[in-house]
Order: sequence, then C-alpha cells, then structure tokens
Amino acid sequence: MAKQTPMMQQYMQIKAQYQDAFLFFRLGDFYELFNEDATKAAQELEITLTSRDGGNIPMCGVPYHSSANYIKTLIEKGYKVAICEQVEDPKTAKGVVKREVVQLVTPGTVMEGAMLSEDENNYLASITPFNQETYVVAYNDLTTGENSIALLEDGFDGVLSELFNRPVKEIIVPPKFDEDHQKALQDRLGVTISKQEENTIPKSFQSLVENLQDERLIIGFGQLFNYIQDTQKRSLDHLKPVYQIQLKEYMTLDMYSKRNLELMETIRKQGKKGSLLWVLDKTVTSMGARTLKKWVERPLLRKESIEERYNQVEGFMEQFFERETLRESLKSVYDLERLAGRVAYGNVNARDLVQLKQSIGRVPEIKSLLASFDKPELKALSEQLQPLDNVHDLLEKAIMDAPPITVKEGGLIKDGYNGQLDEYRDAARNGKQWIAQLEQKERQETGISKLKIGYNRVFGYYLEVTKANIHLLPEGRYERKQTLANAERYITPELKEKETLILEAQEKSVELEYDLFIEVRDQVKNFIRPLQILAEQISAIDVLQGFATVSEEYQYTRPSIVDEREVSIEKGRHPVVEKVMQNDTFVPNDVDMPEETDLLLITGPNMSGKSTYMRQLALTAIMAQIGCFVPCEAARLPIFDQIFTRIGAADDLVSGQSTFMVEMLEAKHALTRATDKSLILLDEIGRGTSTYDGMALAQAIVEHIHNHIHAKTMFSTHYHELTALDEQLNHLKNVHVRAEEYEGRVVFLHQIQDGAADQSYGIHVAQLAELPEGLINRANEILTQLEGSSSEGHKASLKQSVASEVDEQLSLFKEEPVSVKETKQQPEISSAQDQVLKQLSEL
Ligand code: ADP
Repeated sequence: MAKQTPMMQQYMQIKAQYQDAFLFFRLGDFYELFNEDATKAAQELEITLTSRDGGNIPMCGVPYHSSANYIKTLIEKGYKVAICEQVEDPKTAKGVVKREVVQLVTPGTVMEGAMLSEDENNYLASITPFNQETYVVAYNDLTTGENSIALLEDGFDGVLSELFNRPVKEIIVPPKFDEDHQKALQDRLGVTISKQEENTIPKSFQSLVENLQDERLIIGFGQLFNYIQDTQKRSLDHLKPVYQIQLKEYMTLDMYSKRNLELMETIRKQGKKGSLLWVLDKTVTSMGARTLKKWVERPLLRKESIEERYNQVEGFMEQFFERETLRESLKSVYDLERLAGRVAYGNVNARDLVQLKQSIGRVPEIKSLLASFDKPELKALSEQLQPLDNVHDLLEKAIMDAPPITVKEGGLIKDGYNGQLDEYRDAARNGKQWIAQLEQKERQETGISKLKIGYNRVFGYYLEVTKANIHLLPEGRYERKQTLANAERYITPELKEKETLILEAQEKSVELEYDLFIEVRDQVKNFIRPLQILAEQISAIDVLQGFATVSEEYQYTRPSIVDEREVSIEKGRHPVVEKVMQNDTFVPNDVDMPEETDLLLITGPNMSGKSTYMRQLALTAIMAQIGCFVPCEAARLPIFDQIFTRIGAADDLVSGQSTFMVEMLEAKHALTRATDKSLILLDEIGRGTSTYDGMALAQAIVEHIHNHIHAKTMFSTHYHELTALDEQLNHLKNVHVRAEEYEGRVVFLHQIQDGAADQSYGIHVAQLAELPEGLINRANEILTQLEGSSSEGHKASLKQSVASEVDEQLSLFKEEPVSVKETKQQPEISSAQDQVLKQLSEL
C-alpha cells in the first residue's frame, strides 16, 4: 500500500479522536470528508462521492459557505459533526497547515437558530447510575443556559418516565452503561446516546455547582460539563447555576400516564395537535411556549403556589382590555432568553442586538400595564420587573437600526457613537464628495461633458473618456491605465492621493466598527444574568395570560383545592374532545367522589364515553395543579401526588411485549407506587386475556386498591359481574354510561349515572347491524343462560372471595362450567358495535 501523504496522516490522527462523528476537514474553501465518513455522508447528504489517491480513498466535500445546511441535515438525523479548521495561515505555514477541531456539533449542543425549534428547549441530558435504584439525571440547554438536575430513586423506569416526552436531543452516559438500558433509551426516546468517562467538574464550571450539597449530583454534572467542555471548546458565560429539581415538589407522572393522557403529543405521535398542550397554549412568545411545557410536565403540589397562580389568572380574566393590550406588547418581545445565550456564546450579529434592544424596550410598558391590574398578585409581578435601561440605551446609541447580517463589512455602528469612527467616515465621505467635484472641474476644463469618474476593484478610481473625445485632452496631465473598446481610462496623481485616503478611511472604519461591535457585545454580556431573569419573568407572565385567555375562551372555572380527599366536579368536560367537537355537542358530566368514596366502577357499552370520562378527570386534575382554570362549572379537588393510568391503546410496539403484559406492567406500576393521595385510572383491565382470568384479576385489583391503597380510582369494566362488588366494598360506587333506545336505535347519551349498566347492549347493537334474526335469538338465549349460571355463580363466589387471594379465585373460576370459547366472541361484537356506532354518529 502506498504511503499516505502528510495531509492524510494528519487527517487520520485527528479522525482517530472523533470516531463517532463526521470529521469536516477544512481544505481551502471546502470541508472534505474521507473514507467511511465520505461514503456515509455522500448517502445521507445526497452529494457526489469522488476519490483521491488513485481511487483508494473515497472522498466528498461541501463548500464552506453553505456548510451550515449540510451540518443541520446530519444533526437532525442524530449524527455529530466535528469541525476541523486550518488554525494557521497557509501562506506562512511550513509543511502541512496545522488543523484542529474547533467545535463538535451534536444534537444536544447546537446553537444555530435554524437547527432549533423555537417553542421547545433543546436539552442535553446526562444519566449517572449509582445503583439499581438510584440515578442522577442532569439537564443542560446550551441555548438558554439552563442547568438542572434531579436525583431519582425509583429504578431505571423512573429515569425513562422522567425523560419521556421532554425535548431531550442527546443523552450522555458513562462508558460502562447497561446495554439494555441504552437500548431502551434509544427505542423509547429516539435520541443520540454519547459516552463520557471523565466526571470531575472542570474548573471553569466549578462556580455553577457551588449550591449542590450531594456528591452524587456533583458527579452527575461532572459528566455533563466535561462533555460540554469537550464539544464546545470555548467559554460559556451564560450558563446558569445548577438548579436542583426537587421531584417531591411536583406531581409524579410516569411514562404511561404522560403518553396515555396525551399531554404533549397524541399517542400516535402525530404531534402536538390533539394534546392538552395544544388546547392550553395561548402564549405569544416562544419563551412562554417553552415555559408552558415545563409547567405541564411538572404540576405543583403546594397549595399556596397553585392558588397564587389562580389569583394571577383571575386577575388577568377580570380585566380583558388590559390583558389584550399586554398580549399585544408581549408579541413584540423576541426570544430574550436565547438572544442572551447567543451574546454569551459569541454568535450574535447586529440584528440580534437590535432585537434585544426592541425587546428590552417593551419592558417599561409591560411593567406599567401589569401595575394597572387590580389583583395584588399581578402588581407584584410588575414590581419584580427590572427594565434594563442601561442596556437599552447602549444598544440604542451604538447599533444601527437596520444593520446587515454580517458583522465584518460595516454598517453596524451609528454615527456619533465613537469619535474616531466619525472621523474615518467623514474622511471617506469628504473624499467622495471631493471626487464628485473633481469630475465637474475636469469636464469644464476639458470641455468633455461625457467625462466621468468611476471606480473598480483593480484600478481604483479613474477618469474615463470616450475615444471620440481623446483629442480634447491636454498633453501630459493624464496617465493611461486601461483601454476599452471605445474608451480610455486615466489616472492622475491627485486622484490617486485622494483614493488612498478614502480607501484607508473606509477600511479603518469597517475594522473599527467590528471592534466596537465586539465591545458592545461584551458590555451586554455583563448583563446576562439580569437578562435571563427578565426572560424568566416574561415567560411566566406569558403563560399566565395564556391560561386566562384559554380559560375565558372555553369558560373554565377556578377550582377549589380542598384538604379532604374529595373530588366533586359539576358538569365537567374533556378539554381536548370538547375543542375538537364543534357546536357544543360535548355532554358534560359530574364526578361525585366524596371523602368516603374511593372507587368508581364504570360500566357501559363500548364507545359510550367511559375512557373519555376517566381521562377528563386526570386532565382536570393536571390543569388544576399547573394553576390553570378547569373545564367545568364548579370543582372541588384535592391535590394529587401522582396519577397512574392504564387507558386506551395498550399495544406497545417498542417493548415487544404482548398487549396483556403491557397492561399488567402498567397496573403493577400503579399498584406498587400509588398512595391514598393518588389518582388511578384503569380502563378495562383484564380484557387482554380469557374472560375468567381477566375478571379474576380485575376483581383482585379492585379489592387491592380498595383495601390497601385507598387512592381515588376510576375503574371501567365490561365485566358486569363486578358491579356486585358494591355490596361488599364500602368505598366503591357503581356508575354507568347511559344509553337509550330511540326508534329502534341505541343512542349513546354519554351521560354518567349512578348504578350499574344493563348488559344487553351488545346484542342490541348486533341486531341493529342486522345480523341474522336466528343468530340474535340464539345470542339472547345464551345470555340468559349465562346470567343464570355464571353470573349468579360469580355473585355467589364473590361473597366468599372478597378478601381472598387471587390464586384461590382462579381455582374457583376453573370449576365454572362455561367454556371460554363462547365468551371470546366479545371482541367481535364490540367491533360490529363500533361500526354501527360510527354509522350512527354520521347520521
Ligand atoms: P369507551 O371508553 O366507552 O369505549 P370513549 O370514551 O372512547 O368510549 O368514547 C367514544 C367516543 O364517544 C369518543 O371518541 C367521543 O367522540 C364520544 N364521547 C365520549 N364522551 C362524550 C361526551 N361526554 N360527549 C360527547 N361525546 C362523547
């Protein structure tokens, strides 16, 4: 094999340190990629693959000036890109030009606006395991400077739940991280995983962790900060001190609940539309949108904090006109948080600074608008706001109102800001004026009215005379410089002298402008913390006005948070279903679970609205605990510490487990963690297995919750036999969804009523679907038999088994004479029923 050129040797050396990234190797005006990087990049970027060294080395390249788009594509696909620049001047270099990686761009550390979603944070997270149960999860958002950390003591499932649905783009783990866990992260969250060995806090980050006591948290951040240092290779003055997330202060929502309740996106991952966030988001700034997400992710547990938000929302609702004016003001506030981040990172341009100025310029107005509200809680918000007049004045004085994007070609700094700059500019302007006058003078003296003075990059200023007029020029005064087809170009010593002055002045003024720009930027940098605080305050104001706006639009009401374990909702609605359905067709329902009622056993035909009713309660509780008003006419709610759900589509394609297994895992999750302050929603537990199996499990679960957990629970079931449980279980109440027959049709009224449902709807619907009459008659016969034997038998057995173990019940059921085969028809009946319903609903 031929020996490698020195340049390729250099390439191989650098590449060896960046195995998991595409190495963009700077060669003149191009970034080149070689070997495997080249073959893969050519495919991913759809660019031409060439080769060097006689075809031995695959190669491809992207032009330097348009590299941003290519980098973006790779990052969006989850790859990393190491940017390797020439770090010495090729003209003066001896041998191969020195090159170094100046930045490692990764999905979790991008700073370019084009690669970021405005309404979403861009988190880099890190997981540090300490034992089977204990993990530390640390977050950084490089764009906003946010650093937060949480100690989790709930096993790896807890870690998955914590990260689920959050805008995490990349996760760092230690080198020996459990492979199954790594796979679970990739499958569940679809993020890039990176490894980092070093975990002692780098010096320059030390001050950020001063407030952390726990050694484990410091190690967790050590891992994260080392990665940031290794990838960014520059100072990061905008990083905020680490904030410890006290998980005990927030409602716990596990992965299943976040998913089943469709808080951020729908189960089918069709994006935000159809989620709770979609209904609630009436923010007008991107900072507000990001903050709203954080609030929805972490509902509060402290009554005082929740009620403070209610007061603020109420204040905004009371004064519509002021609120609308405030909304308008907020609309012209740019993304202060990310602008501040970019100032510190050093990639702002003058336009960004203008946006910063305009945003800061809105603060006095926002402050006085807030002061005009009657509610003391809003006046308090007003008092907290600190308008940064000095930053505003500096930017107003220094930066042009409509500067260009580039910062190296002048046009950035206003006249009057700097004496030296003004002098250069005067010199250049005077020079130009002098040249205009010279043109006049020459015309008069020579009598050539078409004589003109022009400028080009090669010759500088020149006098141009058409060939027809050359004879009019006096001898000796002009030096010929260039001949064109029908004109000659001349220079004079006088002209050249002025030219030097003008060009020098221009060059100097552009250079000075850049220096001044950097100086202004660095001055703004001193105000990063106040800017970040301002950004946080404005975000919260935006979210709160959004709560008021949505509460008014959909007529939500302020809930009462009660200390007792009481849930009482009058005419409650499902916020998302209600929004999707037009013309007020949503049927409101009450929830009545006084202190002594823990379980509602909900029966009713398929598609009648059972799971909607259950989700509605969970969403109402979440809305209440994030400080928003709730969709109903009146509500008394306790503070729930956790919400568990087993609702809706049970298929879990990711884990590869059977539907039934997933169902059981979700149930286990709830049963092992719930307390008497939790809310549990279990929808049709047991339907994934044979009838008796399923029914036995369902009953045992109901009993377990009733006797041991005492959590507020909604339990829907198609096992009508279970409704008899209310005789034994004092804290259980039956409710059902009402359906009526109207002109030979079953009509679902979606109304929840006390008591158990009648169980013959299935056959009734089959009849409506015009199944053969004989078949329907036979079904009725079988039903009567079943009601006589199994149901009675079951009821009898219930009496004995209420407090007994599941095993015993299983053996009891095995003695039952009815075969499982007959009852397996249930799913088919349901789907026929679904179709009929669909037709009905279309009528
Ligand atoms: P179930 O859980 O009983 O099978 P769902 O809760 O899935 O039924 O509801 C089925 C459909 O009925 C929903 O898609 C919704 O459109 C409609 N629905 C449910 N509850 C209501 C209601 N209260 N008012 C109007 N329509 C409702």
